[in-house]
Amino acid sequence: MKRAFVGRTFLLIWPVLWWAGCASERVSGSSPVRRIYYRGAAELKPLAQRALHICNDTYPKLCALLAEDAGTAPRRFDIIFTDRLPGNSQAGAAGGKLYLNTHYLKTNDPPAEAHFEQVLIHEMAHVAQNYDVGKRDKIPSWWVEGMADYARYKLGHTNGPAGPECSAEYPHYKYGYQCAGAFLLHLEASYGPMVVRRLHRALHQAEYSDELFLTTTGKPLDDLWMEFQNTSAFKPIAKRIYKLHNELGYVNGKPPDDLGTRTLAWLKDRPGGPLTLDAANFLKGLIEKDQLPGVVRSKKKKHKVSFTLGLELDDALKQVNATGLPASRTFYGQRSDEAFKIFYRVNRVSEEGPWKLERAWRATPDGQLLEEYRVE
Ligand SMILES: [Zn+2]
Repeated sequence: MKRAFVGRTFLLIWPVLWWAGCASERVSGSSPVRRIYYRGAAELKPLAQRALHICNDTYPKLCALLAEDAGTAPRRFDIIFTDRLPGNSQAGAAGGKLYLNTHYLKTNDPPAEAHFEQVLIHEMAHVAQNYDVGKRDKIPSWWVEGMADYARYKLGHTNGPAGPECSAEYPHYKYGYQCAGAFLLHLEASYGPMVVRRLHRALHQAEYSDELFLTTTGKPLDDLWMEFQNTSAFKPIAKRIYKLHNELGYVNGKPPDDLGTRTLAWLKDRPGGPLTLDAANFLKGLIEKDQLPGVVRSKKKKHKVSFTLGLELDDALKQVNATGLPASRTFYGQRSDEAFKIFYRVNRVSEEGPWKLERAWRATPDGQLLEEYRVE
């Protein structure tokens, strides 16, 4: 539920050369945006004009924020509309180019001004970072993504669901994005702007080590992280989720390959775990019988859409210690091709009584209610 929209953007690493011959506009003079390309996206022209305006206005400020001299950032860059960004990514950046997802923009409502600007700032930060992708193992991804979010916070966007904080989805700075961004904001406020600038320089030279924080602030990174956890930007849920992730075998924000097996074992070990698994089996039974609201199983084998049934981690933590009846459990379901989730609350009153579906509803990634389903 707390998924951040910017958190789903990504860094492209392959060279992209397919736009030759499509509609484009060369931008005159020495403005930061050199050229803007369309690809079958004439109706997106107003959006392209907005992108052009925002990028030309913001890119110089962004470069000045990250570096004392803007020498390592590309002076100019291209904006390319493409339908080749995977999944629900709205935008991406690589090789000094900023990509916007034509498919996403055509199939969703026009983005609100502030939202669009935040996405562009995040991706422009990747353009300005201009890090050597060949030395990726020396450039921790959490600092790359955290710095891109730090940039959008510094340039005025601290409100909304992807604001600067460590919470359920990004519980540790090694998860990058808004949590690492919030941590960098804190370090800057406490120790000055050189912290981020030196970090940027070290990453650009592919010479980063955690020592950098000791030499810049006088304190080791672990101590700074402890210090940050006493601020209001670090939410109590982050600690619980991080502990759970460690128990499940996550490393630097990445789940293990056998997460499903580990999660089942973890659930079985909890006092209320068997009841939770029982409730999940009840929902799976409804899917088999085509009786779960919001789910229509495809009969076509070629149709590669899958449906995942899961537990939000904060729900799991609350529910798995509850034993005995009556019992209530909440799960989510998600199609692989859709950003929203459907939630199912089930309850069981007594040993003799079966599980019952109490409520089913569809919500946006930031938790806004979209639709209530009729429940029999
Ligand atoms: Zn990013």
